[in-house]
Amino acid sequence: MCGIVGFTGTKQAAPVLLDGLSKLEYRGYDSAGIAVRDGESETEIIKEKGKLKNLQEMTDNGKAVKGCCGIGHTRWATHGEPSALNAHPHSSDDGNVIAVHNGIIENYQELREKLMKHGYVFHTQTDTEVAVKLIDYYYKKYAPLPIEAIARSMVRIRGSYALCVMFKDYPGEIYCARKDSPMIIGVSGEDTFVASDVPAILKYTRNVYYIGNMEIAKLEQGKATFFTIDSEEIQKPLTEIKWDAKSADKGNFEHFMLKEIYEQPNVIRETIDSVVKDGKISFDTINLTDEEMQQIEQVYIVACGSAYHVGVDLQYVMESLTSLQVRVELASEFRYRKMTLNKKSIVIVISQSGETADTLEALRSAKNQGIKTLGIVNVVGSSIAREADNVFYTQAGPEIAVATTKAYSTQLVAGYLLSLQFAKARNEIEECRYQALLEEIYTIPDKVERILEDKERLQWYSAKLINIGDAFFIGRGIDYAIGLEGSLKLKEISYIHSEAYAAGELKHGPISLIENGTLVISIATQDTLIEKTVSNMAEVKSRGAKLMAVTTAGNYFLEDTAEFTCYIPKIDPLFAGSLSVIPLQLLSYYVSIGKGFDADKPRNLAKSVTVE
Ligand code: GLU
Repeated sequence: MCGIVGFTGTKQAAPVLLDGLSKLEYRGYDSAGIAVRDGESETEIIKEKGKLKNLQEMTDNGKAVKGCCGIGHTRWATHGEPSALNAHPHSSDDGNVIAVHNGIIENYQELREKLMKHGYVFHTQTDTEVAVKLIDYYYKKYAPLPIEAIARSMVRIRGSYALCVMFKDYPGEIYCARKDSPMIIGVSGEDTFVASDVPAILKYTRNVYYIGNMEIAKLEQGKATFFTIDSEEIQKPLTEIKWDAKSADKGNFEHFMLKEIYEQPNVIRETIDSVVKDGKISFDTINLTDEEMQQIEQVYIVACGSAYHVGVDLQYVMESLTSLQVRVELASEFRYRKMTLNKKSIVIVISQSGETADTLEALRSAKNQGIKTLGIVNVVGSSIAREADNVFYTQAGPEIAVATTKAYSTQLVAGYLLSLQFAKARNEIEECRYQALLEEIYTIPDKVERILEDKERLQWYSAKLINIGDAFFIGRGIDYAIGLEGSLKLKEISYIHSEAYAAGELKHGPISLIENGTLVISIATQDTLIEKTVSNMAEVKSRGAKLMAVTTAGNYFLEDTAEFTCYIPKIDPLFAGSLSVIPLQLLSYYVSIGKGFDADKPRNLAKSVTVE
């Protein structure tokens, strides 16, 4: 969570910092701040509560702040309420050390008490102020060397952090350190950048260094030098990012979310093309061989949030196509379970950012048990991408809206391809069925496009839902998996209380909540289950529910029960989820903006959950 940007070079820093932060606002937006230094002069710190635009207004978009070196932060508070005081950057009282931080210092109480004994006074409730003053303490106690002071602090700090630090004695330099929170460093000519995520610097450079866990970097004009925690210099390769700057821009769309919904046909196509060559799936780039796939008996899919919902869908797909046993687990639970994993298993972790703290820890705990791991990840070079044995990169490009759409869709399609290849490698599918299913996967982008062309009907119906108090999503099998995602989408951006149930579970409790006007959205795309779901729809309708249905073209009889029916093009039922989720994304988006909310930045939420 939280976005960090730093810059040192030949340009004015403040506009670069604010522009970068605007690309990272999806990571946190309860307050923001910058610290900028002009040569050897005093560093100016400006911070404000609320969204970044407050800071932009205060500084005339950065033009009012002079200096070519600075750091900035957009916060998602963990310790201390969102306020100007608690906003970053934080400073030692004499301005010797100034820093921004992403993450949580778990032992901050203990460190704070220790520092108080040494005369330090604390003005904020943040854990970050403790880190700043600890670095100041070591800097003054031992030699006044930034890298040493940071390294000593890293040994004492427990928790996670991406830190960018400026020292009074070292104008024009920024020092960075990282443990379990993302941070990348970019260089372009005489300019050096640091940021939590690529979109912040894409406009200036595509050449980045990945700073590793427990490493330190020193940034100067046009130069980055890396060190181990023992202050030994290390060499790093520059990596070229393929994303283009436009993809991190809203273009003509009112919100990133709508733009990203519309990008789905393309990014799904690109994800398919990344592994399908000459009509065959090839996992050469993923480094997963047919022999390895033959050995596996059990699959664990581990993820959080929407990525977990992808897992629920894939469980049905994989179990239908193969003899594999598949379990889907919430990463935040999986990592604490005392499970003995089958040695012949694979743990598939799914995360857009590749930095989701719980998913990363789940991956590590699987690796500790000697289990093979595969990451389905969108961000190249992210922690999960680096630590998993195998990586399937989705080709979603930068996803900025907090509520995921295109990352979800590409993860799902990646999972279809993976399931199909498992079936093929294990000789569990006939060649003609394999080819037919691969053809079906190829039709997904065009079919998504067709659904998007019909968005006006959904927009019209969404307008009728803005005063709804409660919603239920019901479905069976894959339709249930999509209900989970549709329900999350609706609640996270429109703040309507919403729950998803396997349709057969309604009678075991939740049906008592149905009353006049309760919205029930039924997903009914699975031929073999549709009649049972329709019965469940009738049951809620007779108790007063307002019913919407999402079904496959041809199932017109649903109109007898639902007041609004949305059709998706025909597709093999195994892959129906990739289509039925699209109207639900659009519906949530239109309900959210109809209620006057900022669909891109729902309250209390941040993308890329790097805290546990
Ligand atoms: N723990 C720090 C705070 O509460 C940083 C939070 C963040 O990552 O935004 O201020």
